[in-house]
Amino acid sequence: MTAPRAIIIGGGLVGPLAGCMLRQRGWQVTLLEKRGDPRAQGYGGGRSINLALSHRGIRALAEVELDRRVLQDAIPMRGRCIHDAQGDVTMQPYSARSSRFINSVSRGGLNCTLLEAAEQAGVELMFDVAIDAVDCDSAGVRLGSGAALEADLLLGADGAGSQIRSVMADAGALVAEQVMLPHGYKELHIPPGDGGSWQLAREALHIWPRGGSMMIALPNPDGSFTCTLFWPKESEPGAHERVSFATGSADVVRQTYPDAAARMPSLEDDWSNNPVGALGTIRCDRWHMGRTLLIGDAAHAIVPFYGQGMNAGFEDVRLLGESIDRGESVEAFARKRKVDADAIADLALHNFIEMRDHTASPQFARRQRRRQRLSKLFPWLQTTYEQVTFTDRPYSLALRSLRSRGMIFHGLLAWQVTSWTILACLLVGLALSRMS
Ligand SMILES: Cc1cc2nc3c(=O)[nH]c(=O)nc-3n(C[C@H](O)[C@H](O)[C@H](O)COP(=O)(O)OP(=O)(O)OC[C@H]3O[C@@H](n4cnc5c(N)ncnc54)[C@H](O)[C@@H]3O)c2cc1C
Repeated sequence: MTAPRAIIIGGGLVGPLAGCMLRQRGWQVTLLEKRGDPRAQGYGGGRSINLALSHRGIRALAEVELDRRVLQDAIPMRGRCIHDAQGDVTMQPYSARSSRFINSVSRGGLNCTLLEAAEQAGVELMFDVAIDAVDCDSAGVRLGSGAALEADLLLGADGAGSQIRSVMADAGALVAEQVMLPHGYKELHIPPGDGGSWQLAREALHIWPRGGSMMIALPNPDGSFTCTLFWPKESEPGAHERVSFATGSADVVRQTYPDAAARMPSLEDDWSNNPVGALGTIRCDRWHMGRTLLIGDAAHAIVPFYGQGMNAGFEDVRLLGESIDRGESVEAFARKRKVDADAIADLALHNFIEMRDHTASPQFARRQRRRQRLSKLFPWLQTTYEQVTFTDRPYSLALRSLRSRGMIFHGLLAWQVTSWTILACLLVGLALSRMS
């Protein structure tokens, strides 16, 4: 019997991992990437320099024995280090269990490692490829060079701006909804200190929450930090004190984050030269057409505030492998997985509000500590953050627990108010009866 064939469009993060997964199952795989080979010419991805890798991503990497290779260059981030507007700095651990942390990894390094692993596993890699036409029903691709390829499965792993998704939408196979955030992002840089030292606490994800906007910083192995501003693109009418990219400048960065800006010698250049990236959520009502399936950002791009876009894409790959092993159709895989992709999209939007508006409050920190201690004692009471970041629990169940926690909280409040009222009435009644 001849081996089944797959064509993967996109050699970013998810495409090469999918290649490794399919090779593990004996498929013949060709991967087509429109850019050049980053291993030869350096990484020019143009998006965030580093990423938070957590349990779901690590588990998918482990399936193809890549977890150790990737984690050897990672920096653990054990909690959020909050820099408030008064200049106070506090650490909020992600979990009461010390074994639970997230990892800062370099996007470029990870991309090269994945491409290398895919090639070693026997995936045929083709770079600088232009795709002229796609037939989703027959998993056929015609290249700009005139060459034609055909397969049993075509995977669209070509990111948020997916060409394959557009072909499917134009053919009426799916409807894609894209909702952009009013915020954009810009990267700034904190270099290593003297002798390669760390200018901020090393094993943390730093956050400067400012209500309505924020800056974060992730550590890099060379001692530097990559900072990302998440600011509104336009200024809101009347909100003169709020920052925005339309009215902002390097001086506004200095005024808003003085402790960080004092460590940014290239602030003026970074502000002028680094673009403002767009952030949004893409939801498709279907992810498949004929023999073609979308995965990763092509199917479900999300805003980056839960650090889950790549992790979710890697989990797609693991679950697709299990689905193939069960002999399921791509349609069955997509139908099941979409529920969880929709859930993490909602959770990511919710976490933006939590990070920028709530993390600075001492009540939030106390509440988190209490919940984490409870979750250590009773594992079934894990915080939503822990469920999303440190377990494989389906995202849809994590979202449900967040929503029901809200309902329980309001229920308890109502119950507490009612029971205090009843108790007060009883006491007044008792006092009156004694008096009479
Ligand atoms: C600011 C920011 C911070 C983020 N931080 C995190 C984080 O901390 N943790 C996390 O898990 N996720 C994070 N993400 C999300 C993460 O970057 C994405 O989810 C992830 O890159 C998706 O991988 P992908 O392979 O699906 O798409 P991509 O990484 O975009 O790869 C798509 C590839 O397809 C190629 N391509 C596109 N069109 C074609 C074509 N027509 N033909 C051939 N090739 C094509 C592209 O060149 C690219 O190489 C962040 C995103 C942003 C914007």
